[in-house]
Amino acid sequence: MTVRVRIAPSPTGNLHIGTARTAVFNWLFARHHDGKFILRIEDTDEERSKDEFTENIFEGLRWLGLNWDEGPFFQSKRLDIYKDAVQKLLDQGVAYRCYTSAAELDALREVQKAKNEAPRYDNRHRNLTPEQETAFKAEGRSSVIRFKIDDDREIVWNDLVRGQVVWKGSDLGGDMVIARAASDSVGQPLYNFAVVVDDMDMQITHVIRGEDHIANTAKQILLYEAFGAKIPEFAHAPLILNQEGRKLSKRDGVTSISDFKKMGFVAEALVNYMTLLGWSAIDSTQEIFTLEEAAKQFSFERVNKAGAKFDWAKLDWINSQYIHAMPVDKLTSMLIPYWEEAGYQINGHPQEWLEKLTALIGASLTRLTDAVEISKPFFCDIEYNSEAKAQLQQSGSKNALEAILTALGDTKELAENSAQDIIKQVMKAHNLKKPVVMKAVRASLTGETHGPDLVQSWLLLHQTGADASRIKSALQLIS
Ligand code: GLU
Repeated sequence: MTVRVRIAPSPTGNLHIGTARTAVFNWLFARHHDGKFILRIEDTDEERSKDEFTENIFEGLRWLGLNWDEGPFFQSKRLDIYKDAVQKLLDQGVAYRCYTSAAELDALREVQKAKNEAPRYDNRHRNLTPEQETAFKAEGRSSVIRFKIDDDREIVWNDLVRGQVVWKGSDLGGDMVIARAASDSVGQPLYNFAVVVDDMDMQITHVIRGEDHIANTAKQILLYEAFGAKIPEFAHAPLILNQEGRKLSKRDGVTSISDFKKMGFVAEALVNYMTLLGWSAIDSTQEIFTLEEAAKQFSFERVNKAGAKFDWAKLDWINSQYIHAMPVDKLTSMLIPYWEEAGYQINGHPQEWLEKLTALIGASLTRLTDAVEISKPFFCDIEYNSEAKAQLQQSGSKNALEAILTALGDTKELAENSAQDIIKQVMKAHNLKKPVVMKAVRASLTGETHGPDLVQSWLLLHQTGADASRIKSALQLIS
């Protein structure tokens, strides 16, 4: 048997972290078994589905490296297939037309609420006579299609994550709507129905999705039975929770993959972190791995039942590991969009200079966005912060900076050892301690009192010609 799994996002929003993590588990399972990973866009909700969200989903999956083998298939292009399938169930007598109006359903719900009962349809139109149907139609009522669910049914499956799951037919809310009302014979299919038709058609062997779909699985199993189809295996992955233990939502700030990208996360790091949201490697201390490495060992035995808490500190740590291990040229090309976004003029600088800057700041980055603030003095005019101003007023600063300016003269190229020599000469000539000189140089060149390696910073600023002019401005500030 070839394993065939799918990710089936609805394009009613950007690619969500929960959907992306489900995609990761599907991808890992497919690769582990040399199977197929299929992409299906569930866009039957015409009002809420948008092309921009579909694009965002494609882009997010590609960015994360979750390449798919088949698809994308669009449910909106398969409406005839669902209509035929609805007709099949009508013909078999396991589905029927229900003419109950919205007002009648509301009234039913009110009664149930008053009795403290869970809302459910009371199957009142299950056995209408042809005369009753004709009368309803004559009243101008439209009909939805409902699928019969017997209260005394018990639905049992062996979930690959949760073990045996038992669901009572009476807990499924009565006969379920599988197609909306329509002026022609059969309207838009509903989620639970279209999913089953597609999963049968696409020969899905394992349905891997979030735990919030468990009740849907019970309904869907009944549909597979009605179609006489082979029921796939089910695996319900734990939900992603926030620090308070509630389902991660928009209120937690960031939920979509494109947001994580904007925040400076590296795709490989984010996808690595997502594999750990509910799964652990055989060596549970191993936390850094590629998707391919994770796929080699992936199994549902190591997927937790309990919800997975989203841990920003851990994601940051993983992200920093990827950044620190990245070759300088690659990291440079990853930083450029963030620098450009910040409005820094990249074009004026040779590649070599950009790479030297990357090498200088790389070790201090946790997120790619951190590079914006750290490299600001290298791209923009500086302003002296209060600590730097105070530093420049310290005794010795003025002498040190004047001497450095003289020593620099009109030096075109400044090598590392020449810069070191200048510092030493100045210390000796003016009897100054090294920290006094270094702090004055840093304050004058960057406007700050902390930052990356000073001599390397100076060399980069010398190449842009900013060092002498900044020392002059600092001197004006002192006097
Ligand atoms: N469209 C559904 C969702 O986005 C798919 C669920 C499933 O995998 O069946 O939640």
